[in-house]
Amino acid sequence: MAMLAGAVALEGGSAAAQGGGSQAFGPSNPFYAASTLPYHAPAFDKIKDTDYEPALEAGMAEQLKEVDAIAENPAPPTFENTFIPLEKSGQLFYRTLYVFNAVTSANSSPELERVQEVEAPKFAAQDDAIYLNEKLFKRVSTIYKQLDTLKLDPESRRLVDVYYKKFVHEGANLSPENKTKLKKMNEELSTLENSFRSKLLAAGKNAAYVTKDKSTLAGMTEAELKAAQADAKAAKAEGYMIPLQNTTQQPVFTSLTNRSTRETIFHNSWTRAERGDANDTRATIVRLAELRAEKAKLLGFPNWAAWKLEDQMAKTPEAAIKFMDDVVPAATARATAEGKDIQAVIDKQNGGFKLRPWDWDFYAEQVRKAKYDLNEDQVKPYFEMWNVLENGVFYAANQLYGITFKRRTNIPVYDPDMRVYEVFDTDGKHLALFYCDYFKRDNKSGGAWMDEFVGQSKLLGTSPVVFNVANFPKPAAGEPALLTFTDVTTMFHEFGHALHGMFANAEYPLLSGTDVPRDFVEFPSQFNEHWASYPAVFEHFAKHYKTGAPMPAELVEKIKRSEKFNQGYMVTELVAAAELDMQWHTIPAGQKIGDPDAFEKAALERKHVAMETVPPRYRSSYFLHIWSNDYSAGYYAYMWSEMLDDDAYQWFEEHGGLTRANGDRFRKMILSRGNTEELGQLYREWRGKDPSTGAMLKQRGLVEEPGPAK
Ligand SMILES: [Zn+2]
Repeated sequence: MAMLAGAVALEGGSAAAQGGGSQAFGPSNPFYAASTLPYHAPAFDKIKDTDYEPALEAGMAEQLKEVDAIAENPAPPTFENTFIPLEKSGQLFYRTLYVFNAVTSANSSPELERVQEVEAPKFAAQDDAIYLNEKLFKRVSTIYKQLDTLKLDPESRRLVDVYYKKFVHEGANLSPENKTKLKKMNEELSTLENSFRSKLLAAGKNAAYVTKDKSTLAGMTEAELKAAQADAKAAKAEGYMIPLQNTTQQPVFTSLTNRSTRETIFHNSWTRAERGDANDTRATIVRLAELRAEKAKLLGFPNWAAWKLEDQMAKTPEAAIKFMDDVVPAATARATAEGKDIQAVIDKQNGGFKLRPWDWDFYAEQVRKAKYDLNEDQVKPYFEMWNVLENGVFYAANQLYGITFKRRTNIPVYDPDMRVYEVFDTDGKHLALFYCDYFKRDNKSGGAWMDEFVGQSKLLGTSPVVFNVANFPKPAAGEPALLTFTDVTTMFHEFGHALHGMFANAEYPLLSGTDVPRDFVEFPSQFNEHWASYPAVFEHFAKHYKTGAPMPAELVEKIKRSEKFNQGYMVTELVAAAELDMQWHTIPAGQKIGDPDAFEKAALERKHVAMETVPPRYRSSYFLHIWSNDYSAGYYAYMWSEMLDDDAYQWFEEHGGLTRANGDRFRKMILSRGNTEELGQLYREWRGKDPSTGAMLKQRGLVEEPGPAK
């Protein structure tokens, strides 16, 4: 049985629309049978938005029947008559759900939003129907208790262990009346999470900055202005529109010279979901936090975070909090120093004001230019999007792992700008399909992510069909798509997730690929970012899109030095958000939150991350990860994974860097292993020791590296 939702997927959606309704389900539905396309790729040329609901409904019913047959089996429980059919159950449901999750996040429509609104609570109930099935649990538990006498291979043993703990985690040991309570709580939680997502999507749209006065946008390039006009046109508004990104800070701040425009846009961002209208999320998050604490208590945990972290690599909130607290002093000290540098620039220009959050990126960009003379517009022509993909991202994967890529134009896609590649293994055998959907669209959630249309499993005979989504600005017709170095890094990041999915080599769907604890899931992706600036890779893709000339050496040097620039700010905004997440999720049951803004302020102060000029990367009221995307009590995981990826990259550096031998060993011991072994153990076996923060603080430039005096 696969996991209900991809571990790294973000989901999108908005308020319920009218219309639709369930239809009869039969062979004319494209989900009725497994797709006949190569790799069982989704038949996007046949799938209509109205096909999902009947297929999901039929799929859930079918899975319940399959699970019931296992639970009611009169034969004594064995691994073969319990775990194997369990892993094979729900195939119609999952093949529909994976595609449904993909399109609701990346290519939504009113119909899809409606279906999501209707189905979300049913997905939660589906999970409950399985993990609260007493007869099934009894079989699982009987086999679990015999584990030492059974002759199972290590992956099968791991499967039993993970299932048993998941049952207990989901409440299988509860009394019947508490199980009923839990079901009700889960349904309410799911509805609240979905409602948060819908409100936030609408709130974000409404908070876009719209103006007819071009002068307020001084500093933006002609291309950016054109894009702003196109955005306005698409939204049926007059003039120029600057849509909000999902983070607190907005990319446009680096170029806007008009301070009051920056302040207005910042205000729009900061208060987007706190306007006292129908899309205000504050009451929703307070209820979510309080209800989560109650659910944790019912399951026997002191708080939600303790329950969530039980199966993570960190294991306890205390371990995660200690890790974050360790990072705070170095990060805030560096941010304070950076703020002083910026204030000095403001004073030198006789600005006559005190640095505020909406000034930070604008002046930081000037400090960057003064220190490194690096202008994004200078570097962008060297980062044409498809070239970065084929000669950078793919090249690094080829050098490390020996895999090759071929573009396929006969696989249907849901948007004409998408591309599909087939991936071949070292011996030329078919390995996977890889889709990319890189351009920003109105019906796409913000950010970038990876997920799967089809997961790998030897038991099911399936190969991975994975995709990457991003929100890179789409150029005007006939213009090349030019990326910033940050975008380039994002592309390498998401492809790291893709590799984790494509190299999966597990027997069981439950343990395959990226279905790993969330404090491990970002490790392969963040690790893959390192190759973006690795000289042999960088030189291979960083070529001018018109002339093919390599990037001049001094520009390369500037990019390298500027990578450590502004890290105090970046780590502080990240650790502030992570601490905030953990503060919301370590409240005990029964504690009343009261005013969420006051709660947020106190939490930031308590954790020593309340810097006036450095707001958290996400504010509570628009923190999609923790309220709706299953990253609750898990935002620390990004930095935890970073500790792993820097520590791992250090190993590569110590062993000769970008070599096939290093890549093959990493693929064999980490990337192909999914969740088939306890993750701490998996890492230790590969690394030879536990990870530590030393390499991360050095990589971020937060501690001085020993070296020649400046
Ligand atoms: Zn990621």
